[in-house]
Parts: sequence; structure tokens; C-alpha cells
Amino acid sequence: MKKFKKLAMAMTLIFMFSLVGCGGSENTSGDKTKFKSGKYIGEAKGHNGNIKLEVEVDEEKIKDIKILEHKETKGLSDPALNDIPKEIIEKQSLAVDVISGATVTSNGVIEAITLALKNAGGNIDELKKVSGSDDSSKKELVKKEADVIVIGAGGAGMSAAVAAAEEGAKVIVLEKMPMIGGNTIRSGGAYNAVDVEAQKAQGIEDSIDKHFKQTFEGGDKKADEKLVKILVEGSLEGKKWLQSYGMKFNEKIGSVVGSLWTRTHQASDAAGTGYMNTLKEAGDKLGVEILLNTKATELIVENDRVVGVKAEDKDKNLLELRGKKGVVIATGGFAANVEMRTKYVPSLTADKPTTNHPGATGDGIVMGEKVGADLVGMEHIQLLPMAIELTGPTINVENSIFINKEGKRFINEDNRRDKLCEAIMKQKDGQYYMINDSQIIKEKNELGDNIEELIQKGVVIKADSIKELAEKIKIDEKVLQETINEFNKAVENKKDSFNRTLWKNKIEKAPYYATLRHPAVHHTMGGLKINEKTQVLSKSGEIIQGLYAAGEVTGGIHGGNRLGGNALPDTIVFGKIAGKNVVK
Ligand code: ADP
Repeated sequence: MKKFKKLAMAMTLIFMFSLVGCGGSENTSGDKTKFKSGKYIGEAKGHNGNIKLEVEVDEEKIKDIKILEHKETKGLSDPALNDIPKEIIEKQSLAVDVISGATVTSNGVIEAITLALKNAGGNIDELKKVSGSDDSSKKELVKKEADVIVIGAGGAGMSAAVAAAEEGAKVIVLEKMPMIGGNTIRSGGAYNAVDVEAQKAQGIEDSIDKHFKQTFEGGDKKADEKLVKILVEGSLEGKKWLQSYGMKFNEKIGSVVGSLWTRTHQASDAAGTGYMNTLKEAGDKLGVEILLNTKATELIVENDRVVGVKAEDKDKNLLELRGKKGVVIATGGFAANVEMRTKYVPSLTADKPTTNHPGATGDGIVMGEKVGADLVGMEHIQLLPMAIELTGPTINVENSIFINKEGKRFINEDNRRDKLCEAIMKQKDGQYYMINDSQIIKEKNELGDNIEELIQKGVVIKADSIKELAEKIKIDEKVLQETINEFNKAVENKKDSFNRTLWKNKIEKAPYYATLRHPAVHHTMGGLKINEKTQVLSKSGEIIQGLYAAGEVTGGIHGGNRLGGNALPDTIVFGKIAGKNVVK
């Protein structure tokens, strides 16, 4: 790290020097010389560390940009690392947009390129000017046809696409963002599935009935029982399906905040990248076509049947895409749409943080409603008890305790997410510390974030003793010690005054970790009403022909509260069903 700092300082000096040195030679005389030809290094901070790249210029043009080093997460950062350099070369300009959802990486790439171009004698102010040319006259109408059109390339959309392509269908997927993955790729990667054999081998008792009961009752019996049954019965098969395409899960079965039981399979790759990379590769092999930066705007209905989608690309060209067999809506939820979420839950105003990607705006709900679709459970919006953006040492709950700013536990940590949030909001500042010890902390958390870096950023507090931890988080040492002693005693007896049921390790092995967390808007459980075949139903309960939906855009699966770890099986199980049925 020290080395890095020194290097960065040295580079800054070089940049400053070269700026002074080349200021006079910038192109003011009308000749075409823009740069001193050669290769220049630029380096700037990304999400997980520095991004180092090389820019090659001749006297007139930016010729090439190569990323030399970076620590960004595969899948999540690809569009920023690949598309931004491409666009800068194409436009010969630094006036490019950041990739929403990968803002930090985008800014890092742009800054590094800017520094390199500065070093090459480029006039940065000129390069940053937005060209005034309006090419709106060149807009085209593009028409395309396939068997199946899928809207949204998250977990549900890509599962539907792959499942339909397995049946031999030609599939086109529309994705409005510059990258696939939606909320799925940003999730913690946790997947609930009853696997009696594997759980038994790890000393865990479980059954499909138990998963059903916990899901249904954990959602206050507000879900559609038939859909819950499909979810819990199909989740193991969904996991095996992913594995058949090469996806890797960790061997150890655990639990996440709000999962209520130890049946969570953790993806081996960071966050939701394992799911999305697997589905993308499977789709590629099966010939699935994905149109990025293409936003579906309207369903096309002919003779009472949904036959296609109208869409718009990045350059505002219009597209008309027809699906001979039908259309699958898999546009995800609406937690990032303040207007829509406050319509159903007025308290979830703009000042409430969300864990969602910016594309989670409920477009599929609007498009569905326009063709008469019924909505169900729209008022059920889940807050995640453990923001900020899930970045702590872990999302595991069996080895965690939550303490308030007085140093005391205030709830059983294995409770439902809605109950946890209610309790957290009653604590000082609406925040709490998640406390862990070294037994479960690995080099990286489930999202792929490096713990040492989180410690350096001050997100995670690390201490060699409880005393030191108490000092660092400004809690009375005696109170914290007493809380931990009491918890450790409860671990021995598997019993505490809060009625906690999930017990694993004591908190006893230094170093100790604390992360300050709070609730954030996370998952919208309501949406389009579907039947067991994922066909979208109208307000009068009839099937809307040609229209299917899967994933967070649908309602009726989680009821009033979703179990942690149940969202990914929802997208895979119902995505697959949609893909199979639309082809039939
Ligand atoms: P799920 O978990 O249900 O698959 P995700 O949030 O993972 O939901 O994925 C939904 C995807 O749909 C996101 O990538 C999002 O950008 C995309 N999307 C949302 N609205 C549209 C739209 N109007 N056109 C195309 N894609 C959309």
C-alpha cells in the first residue's frame, strides 16, 4: 500500500510537471497537432483499488486505451472498463457519460484517461466539451423478430432466456442499462434451497415443509400458497440447473440476515456475479441475443394477445421487436423509483437510502398495467436491515450479534427482516453495530469486497480486544464485555431472553469487528399477478395471452416480508418456468 502511495505521489508530480511543460504547446494555432505522440500511463482510484491504464496517441488522435491493472469485480465493472475507453476513442472526446450502476469505476477510468491525455499534452478543456451536433434527424426504426422477447437481463430474465433457448427458441433480451445483472448481480449471492442430504451431513435438520412454512408465515400468509410451494419445491433443482452450467457454490450451508434458517447456499464468486456470468455464458452458447442500452417502453398488443415490445436504444432509435411465442417481463422491482414507492408506502421518501441499482424503476409494472394486468401486494416493500450497500465483513447471521449505541443487544438477530428494521429504528440514530469475531471473517466478504480495504475506509472497525473495540466505537467497555459474555453463555445453552434459535460460534476469538449499519429500501415484494405458469393475469383474473412475468416484477411470492436468501431462487425458479412455458 505504501508503495502505491509513493508511486501515486511520484506520478502526480510528473503530471504537474508535464502540465506546466506542455501548456504552451497546446493547439491554438489551427494546425492539427493535438498530442505528443506516444504511450502514456494514467492511474486513478476505482471501487476496489487503483485502475492503471495506458493511452496511445499520435499527433492527431487517441489511438488505443489498454487497461493494465485493476481490482474491480468481474461482471460488475466490465462495462465501465470496456465501454468507456471504446467510447472515448470513438468520439475522440472525454465528454462521455458514466455507466450508471458502475459510477465509481467509470469515474476512475475517465480520470485515469484524462491524466494520461494531460500528460500527452492534450487540451483537456477542449476534450471535455460536449459536441453540439444534434443527429435527431438520423433516427431509425429497427424491426426484429424472434420466438421470445425477454425484457430485463437480471437473474429472472436471463433464466427465462436460457430456459427458452434450451427448447430451441430464438430469444432476444432487452436490457436498458449498459450492463446485464440488475439487482441480481449486486445481491449478496445467497440462495435458499432445502438439500436434506447435504444439510444432514452438516448437522442441520430441514424439510421442504419447513421452508414453505417459514416463507409463508414469515410473509404473514399474504403470499399465494401455490406460488410459495413452487418456489420451495423448485429451488434445489434451480441450483442444480445453474451448477450444470458451471456455477459454483460454497460447500458450507449457512444463513443470512432474515433467512430464518440454515439453508442458504453461498455463491462462490463475489456478489451475484456467479449467477450472471453463468447465465450469460449459457445464453451465449445457446444463441441468446442481448441488446444492451435498449429500454422497453410499451407492449404491442394485437387481437388481444401480446405480440411484441416497442423499445428505444441509447441513440433514441426506435425498435419494434416481435416475439412469435410471447414476451416475458423480467424488469425487476421499483425500490429506486421514489414516486412509485411513495405511492404505495408514503414514508419511503427520497431521503431513505436504497440498496438498489438505478434501473429498478418498476417499468414492467407500468407496461403491464397498461395492457390490463392486475397488481398484487404493492404495499409490501422490504427494508434491508444491514445497509450500507451490504458492505460489512459478512451477511451471515448465526455468528453475528447486533448491538445498539449503548452496547446492548436489542433483538434476536435471526428474526425477520421487517421485525429487525422495526427494532433498529427504535435504537439511537436508527443504527446498530453488527459484531463479529475472527472465526468467520475471510479476506473478502460475500460481495467480494476486501476487508482490509473496508477497514482502511473506516467502514469496518477492527480491534484486537473487546476493550479496544469498545473504545473505537465509543461504547462503555464494561457494558460491551457484559453483552458479549451473556451472548457466549447463551450460545452454550442455545437459549437467550430474545428467543434466538440460530446458534453457532461464541464471539471469543480476536480480532473483533464492528460495522455500523442501518435499514435501506431493498426489495419490492408486490408486482404483476401471475399464475403457476407465470402467465400474467388481468384484473378480471383472465390470462393475458402471450404475456409472462418472473422475478421481482411479480407479486404474490413473498407476501408481506421476504426471507433473506429467497429472492435468488425466486428469479431462477420462476424465470425458468417462464422460459419453458412461453415456448410451449
Ligand atoms: P430480477 O431479480 O427480477 O431478475 P433484476 O433487478 O436483477 O431483477 O433485473 C431486472 C433487469 O431489468 C435490470 O437489469 C434492469 O435494468 C432491467 N430493466 C428494467 N426496466 C427495463 C426496461 N424498461 N427495458 C429493458 N430492461 C429493463
